[in-house]
Amino acid sequence: MQYVKDALLKSKEKNEATWKVLDKFSYDGDDLGAVCSKAETTFKVWAPTAQMVKLRLYSVGSREEQPNVSDVISTTEMEHTPENGLWSITVKGNLKNIYYTYLVTVDGRENETADIYAKAAGVNGLRSMVVDLSDTNPHGWNKDSHIFVENPTDAIIWETHVKDFSYAQSSGVSHKNRGKFLAFTEHTTMYGVRDRRETCVDYLKKIGITHVQLMPIYDFATVNEAGGDEYNWGYDPLNYNVPEGSYSSDPFHGEVRIKECKEMIKALHDAGIGVIMDVVFNHTYKSRDSWFNLTVPGYYYRIGKDGKWSNGSGCGNDTASERKMYRKYMVDSVLYWAKEYHIDGFRFDLMGLHDVDTMNEIRKALDSLPNGSKYLMYGEGWKMFTNVDSGIFLANHTNMGYLDSRIGSFNDGIRDALKGNAFDDRNKGFAQCGVNKGGIIISAEGQCGKYCGWAQAPTQTINFVSCHDNYTLYDKLVSSCIGNRDYKMRYENLIPMVKLCQTLIMTAQGIPFSLGGEEFCRTKYGDKNSYRSAPSVNMVEWENLSNYGDVSDYYAGLIKIRKQFDMLRDPTRATANRLKFFQNLPNYAAGFMISEEDGEFGENKHHKMAVILNGSADNYLDAEIEYSDGSNWVVLADGTNSGVRSLGVVSNNRFMLNRNSAAILIYKSWYDEIMEKQQKGKKH
Ligand code: CA
Repeated sequence: MQYVKDALLKSKEKNEATWKVLDKFSYDGDDLGAVCSKAETTFKVWAPTAQMVKLRLYSVGSREEQPNVSDVISTTEMEHTPENGLWSITVKGNLKNIYYTYLVTVDGRENETADIYAKAAGVNGLRSMVVDLSDTNPHGWNKDSHIFVENPTDAIIWETHVKDFSYAQSSGVSHKNRGKFLAFTEHTTMYGVRDRRETCVDYLKKIGITHVQLMPIYDFATVNEAGGDEYNWGYDPLNYNVPEGSYSSDPFHGEVRIKECKEMIKALHDAGIGVIMDVVFNHTYKSRDSWFNLTVPGYYYRIGKDGKWSNGSGCGNDTASERKMYRKYMVDSVLYWAKEYHIDGFRFDLMGLHDVDTMNEIRKALDSLPNGSKYLMYGEGWKMFTNVDSGIFLANHTNMGYLDSRIGSFNDGIRDALKGNAFDDRNKGFAQCGVNKGGIIISAEGQCGKYCGWAQAPTQTINFVSCHDNYTLYDKLVSSCIGNRDYKMRYENLIPMVKLCQTLIMTAQGIPFSLGGEEFCRTKYGDKNSYRSAPSVNMVEWENLSNYGDVSDYYAGLIKIRKQFDMLRDPTRATANRLKFFQNLPNYAAGFMISEEDGEFGENKHHKMAVILNGSADNYLDAEIEYSDGSNWVVLADGTNSGVRSLGVVSNNRFMLNRNSAAILIYKSWYDEIMEKQQKGKKH
């Protein structure tokens, strides 16, 4: 304490920021939090400005559980190491499933706080819990393995929310597991009578996506875990290293949610599907009374000299990734989920608020794990204002060049080019009326081809047309095209637009991403910010598969095409640089030729694909397939059907497209080659 006090006094004379002084007293051990064995448990917490820290042990996870009896087991002073700001204590005996908090005194004020490094917690996350993690492993966990793809561009990402996924009765999931982690473990879930369709994980397996991106599964604050049926997306972090209690069958016993979260991940892995976790390090739910701020007041947040808390996130409390102990916290937390929970990738909320050095540190830390280079990493690289010193580069689209090429960012360019401005209800994009051809071209190249963009390589762009934010794709099409906006209606003129959007997402260079259910015209009834709307608004309505099964089938066909052709998944810029855009099309249409690389000659003359998009709502398109050498073409997708099978042969280099439709064609000789290989494969 004296060291820190002296240093802080000196820094005041020099007008140096407090956090810079505290960075000099940082701790780099990997044992923060409670480390438990049968014989003893050691607690360590970093609190360099504290005058005193005490450990308090509790018999239960919340006061409400034993209102009339004292639930405090003990309160004990911890020992301080002033050189590195550490407070620690070792308690003899088996403390498994015992709850705890720290009483931290700063400037004469004592505050009770949970442990920011807690791995388990009581109901609603207010007390931390000592956990023996080996007790939380589901059967077969030691044989569970990561689902990785070779390159980030091989991933096909489907976003969902634990509650949305199975809340509806039409999910076919048992009543007790609906909206919970365990819903993912149920099989042979079905919906429908005549046209029976798989739902949930069976459905995902069938359509061929490679990864599920889960909206926050860490412990968030706003849903009461003790009961009721509250809803929130979960971008309100409370305990970063603890799973959310309301998704478990028993939020009162801290070990249960851990086990059930692992069971969910294992079930997805068993289905061959990787799990990407949505991490929200850019802000916390609480500010002055957050666990971080009660432990080391002021240190973890960007607070100006005027005392104003930076507000790039819109939540009023931007965290400070550039400071040593928060950077370490982010690295530690990501590694913990990767190792303990077998998470396969991470999606960083408002990544543009973090600095590039921290993001690269996380990449390096993941790379150090077995097969580490294969963990997926991407985030929202929006440009936002936040209070950082000059010389600190933020992880946004402008600075992609400073980021590892395997750290990607969401591509709002392709989103808005396809369906119009996401924040303007009536604004239309290429899919509705053929505007913004330029945006389509730059998007097809994955923001990294001859027409430039912000990415260094396709591995840096996450191509999408809708996610949990704003309107669903279908709602956006309804709001921009239909006068009376009846979101429950199936409008036949909108269906081709959905397919057109997904055709570009699946054939553009980059990593395809979709809001789960987008492919069967998911609606939230026009709710464009449903973060705390009713679950009935947010849930995936699996019965929509009866009404929009054709659209889902089309999406599955596009996935087959994407998986068949390596050039669609090139992690380098080579294919993007080879794209040739058709010059003779009207301004409401776009088309491009993608060719496979030939080692000696550059472009492979016989391996070519044409993608043609007609954005016009009024005109059919008689498209000339340019850059063709006169070969015959096989149609793989025509706006009605899609897949790796012939829908017909075109012999005169001209193809007719319906309104608001897209088509994929390949050289017939190439198609014949593929079919021959498949036949041979079947014989063997
Ligand atoms: Ca919670």
